[in-house]
Amino acid sequence: MIVSNMNAKVALVTGASRGIGRAIAERLAAAGCEVAVHYGRDKAGAEETLARIGGRGFVIGAELGVPGDVESVVDQLDAELAGRRLDVLVNNAAASPAGPIGADTEAAFDRLVAVNVRAPYFLIQRLLPMLSDDGRIVSISSVATRMANPAQTSFAMTKGALETMTVTLAQELGARGITVNAVAPGATRTEANGAIFETPGLTELIVAQTALGRLGGADDVAEVVAFLASPAARWITGQVVDASGGLHLGVG
Ligand code: NAP
Repeated sequence: MIVSNMNAKVALVTGASRGIGRAIAERLAAAGCEVAVHYGRDKAGAEETLARIGGRGFVIGAELGVPGDVESVVDQLDAELAGRRLDVLVNNAAASPAGPIGADTEAAFDRLVAVNVRAPYFLIQRLLPMLSDDGRIVSISSVATRMANPAQTSFAMTKGALETMTVTLAQELGARGITVNAVAPGATRTEANGAIFETPGLTELIVAQTALGRLGGADDVAEVVAFLASPAARWITGQVVDASGGLHLGVG
C-alpha cells in the first residue's frame, strides 16, 4: 500500500496511549505527520507513544465520556496548534463491551454511548472549524457491526452509530473536500489485550475463521487508517473498510 508523503500534516489520534491508537500514531508519524497523542488516564503510555515517534507531536490528556471532555481536548489542541490547521482526526478511543444484555446496566450502556458515540460526534463538531478543507476523519468501528456477538450487543450498537455517522457526515463534508470513513478491525492482538488471546483455543478458533489465516495485529489496522488519512485516498468517502483479514466471511 502506498501512503503518500504527509509532511506538514497534523493528526489527532484519540486513545493513542496504547494498542491500535498507538500503532496509528506511529504509522502517521512515519508518513510525516505531527501527531497529537491523546490519552484518557495513561499519561505515561501517551508519553511512550510520543517517544516512539521521535517526539514528533505532543500529548493531550482528557478523559472522554465525562462533562467537559470535548472542550478539554479542543482547548489543549488549540493551544498547541496556535492557529495552525488540523488535517487528520482519528476517533479511536473506545470503551470496552459491557457484556450480554442480561448482565448490562444502564450506567454501563450510558458510558459506552458517551465514550464511543457522543465524544467523537461532538469532537468532530468542535474541530470542524479547525479542520483543513481536504481533511480526513477516520473512526474506528468493529466487525461487531456485521458479526452477531451476543456478548457485545450494546458495544456493537455504538459502533453501528459511528458507521451511520460516517455516511451522513461524508455527505455533508464532501463540499469541503473532507473525507469521512470508518475502519472495522476484527479480533486484534495488542500489547494490552495479549493475555486474552492466551485463553486456550481462542486464537486457533479466530484464525480458523479468518480468511487470511492468522491473528491480526495493531499494525495491520494502522496501515489501513494511514491510507485513508493520506492524500492517496482522496476519492474514498462514506465507507466502512473492514480490516479484519476476512474474519467470519462465510463457511470455510
Ligand atoms: P485499548 O488497548 O483498550 O486502548 C484504548 C485507548 O482508548 C487507550 O489509549 C485509552 O486511553 C483510550 N480510552 C479508552 N476509554 C477512554 C476514555 N473514556 N477517555 C479517554 N480515552 C479513553 O483499545 P484497542 O484494542 O487498541 O482498540 C482501539 C479501537 O479499536 C477501539 O475503538 C476499539 O473498539 C476498536 N477495536 C478493537 C479491537 C481489538 O480486538 N483490539 C477489535 C475491534 C475494534 P487510556 O488508557 O489513557 O485511558
